[in-house]
Amino acid sequence: MQNNTLLIVGSIAIDSIETPFDSRKNILGGSTTYSLVVSGENVPTSIVGIVGYDFPKEGKKIFKKYSNNLDDLIISKGKTFSWGGKYLKNWDDRETLFTDLGAFEDFKPVLSKSNQNHSHIFLANIHPDLQQLVIDQSLNSNKIIAIDTMNLWIDIAKDSLHNVLSSSDILFINESEASLLSGKKTIYDSASIFLDLGLKIVVVKKGGQGAELFSNEENIKIGAYKVNVVDPTGAGDVFGGAFISTLAQGGTLSDSLVNGSAMASFCVEGFGTSCILNVSEEELEDRKSNLYSTLSS
Ligand code: AMP
Repeated sequence: MQNNTLLIVGSIAIDSIETPFDSRKNILGGSTTYSLVVSGENVPTSIVGIVGYDFPKEGKKIFKKYSNNLDDLIISKGKTFSWGGKYLKNWDDRETLFTDLGAFEDFKPVLSKSNQNHSHIFLANIHPDLQQLVIDQSLNSNKIIAIDTMNLWIDIAKDSLHNVLSSSDILFINESEASLLSGKKTIYDSASIFLDLGLKIVVVKKGGQGAELFSNEENIKIGAYKVNVVDPTGAGDVFGGAFISTLAQGGTLSDSLVNGSAMASFCVEGFGTSCILNVSEEELEDRKSNLYSTLSS
């Protein structure tokens, strides 16, 4: 059995992003990519995913650097999944401009022996049927499973998503997705419905307002570290990757909230992964100590 190791399944993408002020074409993205870059710094992290023949060298380097093993990274003959998104003036609303599945269309995660026994699993944003396949192949009976999702899957794959949720321990979800999934207006009512599904922890992400953690025993609130937002893409994936890897390292729920929020604050300061790839230890500690002071329960 492997202790304190993390497996991530999600998307590996080439993104094109437009914000109210600027844009970038064909930059490295995907829910796995964002979460791996932060979790790989904390615990041995492996990934299961697919890229196409066109996946850039710079992306391969990053995956090699942050992954414990790449046994289950498939390099396919198709094109890498690509996604385009546009943020509106208020930053909260995002339009999907295009989704080109490419190699992702036929992707079925298959876990090698080396990846069947991780203590922690992060089901990053991806179709819930693919998340389920990873759960089904994970043999560690004490595993802790965290899941992230998006409005698309709540709209088109709600039953599959419910199945995954009932096998998971921790849910990361933003406020609007929480309402869409639960049918309830407040995050308190939503969280109580999610906990009734068998989840042990629900973390509602509130963007610039911070986040709130719910379990049957406690409710912890955290503020946000204020920064100048350049590109919010991936902040949720970074939050989730930092949260679950801090927990896998033996951190408390508060430590996990603080690290998740601190790393997400770096993420939004630049396009794509540019800022999370260059976090200074000193600046991270500074943001964490600021965020510890915003905790309340
Ligand atoms: P977030 O901003 O946390 O929602 O994550 C953004 C990342 O999700 C981008 O880098 C996209 O490549 C990826 N993404 C967007 N749509 C999908 C989708 N339908 N399935 C999987 N990943 C996606």
